Amino acid sequence: MIHKNIVCPVCGAACDDIQIEIKDGKIETKNVCKMGISRFKEITSPRRFKQPLLKFGGKLRPVSWDGALQIAADILTSAKRPLIYIGSETSCEAYEVGLMIGEYLGAIVDTVGNGAIVMGTQEAGKVGATEGQKKNKGDLMVYWGTNPLESMPRQMSRYGVFPRGYWTKRGRFDRTILTVDPRKTLTAKASDLQVQLKPDSDYELVSALLTLLNGRVPHHSVEEITGVSVHVMEEMLDLMKNCNFGTISVGAGLSSSPGKYRNIEIAMSLVKELNKYSKFTLGIIRSHCNAAGFSQVASYMYGYPFGLDFMRGHPRYNPGEFTTVDLLREKDIDAAFVICADLLSQIPPDCATYLEEIPLICLDTIPCPTTSLSDIVLPGVIDSMECEGTFYRLDDVPVYFEPFLDSPFKFTQSNEDTLKQLFEKIKEKKNQDSIFQDSVFPFTYIDDLKTQNCSSRSYTSSGQLSF
Ligand code: SF4
Repeated sequence: MIHKNIVCPVCGAACDDIQIEIKDGKIETKNVCKMGISRFKEITSPRRFKQPLLKFGGKLRPVSWDGALQIAADILTSAKRPLIYIGSETSCEAYEVGLMIGEYLGAIVDTVGNGAIVMGTQEAGKVGATEGQKKNKGDLMVYWGTNPLESMPRQMSRYGVFPRGYWTKRGRFDRTILTVDPRKTLTAKASDLQVQLKPDSDYELVSALLTLLNGRVPHHSVEEITGVSVHVMEEMLDLMKNCNFGTISVGAGLSSSPGKYRNIEIAMSLVKELNKYSKFTLGIIRSHCNAAGFSQVASYMYGYPFGLDFMRGHPRYNPGEFTTVDLLREKDIDAAFVICADLLSQIPPDCATYLEEIPLICLDTIPCPTTSLSDIVLPGVIDSMECEGTFYRLDDVPVYFEPFLDSPFKFTQSNEDTLKQLFEKIKEKKNQDSIFQDSVFPFTYIDDLKTQNCSSRSYTSSGQLSF
């Protein structure tokens, strides 16, 4: 049987036209790029986690589902400042439960990358467009600090460059592609104009473009700093001012160069200025599948897009203090729960060393460096293939997906289900602890009476027994 219109759970494009056929236990795919195929093959991969694992004697060994959840709940409830790190390869429904667990525990909840882009958007706002609008109207695509031909292979063929749209009937022939990147990437080679600026000079180049746009000539030193001549800058502006519908798609190359979120802010200022001449928008190339989803869910639930600290009983947001790398570097957490992410591969070595020292719980589908460090591994269900849910696409459009397979596990139907079951265990554990705390006085007292047969005792105000 052929399953149609399956959503790919790999990159931000969330392609929803995938066809799958399972023949004799083998998976045949259609419309999937190379990156996507490897994820679909995980379904039948022999490396996949098939049961919960607990580290014992330095090795991960099978354990019962209930036992694994119980120990995970014990670790999280007994930690003073746990971190819940939720990756992007799971559904918004799982994000919701993860955030609720964080609020209940007074933990910190954070997610993968994209923080600088979100902060830049918070500073400057966003003139955005859906990928469908770009397909139908867009006649100028600017790729700045991103290489979608390799990081999001079907973005150009489905939306940005090659498809025929309502006002772009000749597809690629009706579009101009401009790439701004220090590297000669595949995308740059496929462009009409490549601006090869010097590394880390994005802010200066955008500033110079804004200066030119306002009718002034930038200081001559900018040519040396950026490696781009004023003549080329004027050529860029000429393309931007004279298009009908332009988009600057930014990627991690822009947000991770010095200036970080200020680069996004000034790029947005450029987009705002360009709207005086033509319709112009800013897009984000998100290389992880539901990277846009966490900000959406966390923002509508608590008002902040990432790095939420619930320690005081209400959400607090301060990037640089309540964000994962900073917490690990300051040794400010005492347990971590990593959900659908390979955190260890994304953090600096000093942070990785500290992560190794604290109790670590992982929820994932296949082994990765983070799971090898974990004390407990909960097997993950693959979203969009084995359970339903919602992803947010790179342009912040929600995409609902339905599975074509059942969950491979009897004990859980989805990652959302796993988190809900864990939440129940956490609540039970907390209730038990509070009952014990409330009743520690009479129990201790009764026990003492039995064992020591002593009735002439009293308790100090701090609860100490005195005779
Ligand atoms: S472009 Fe991204 S979402 Fe589309 S098939 Fe490739 S990996 Fe999957």
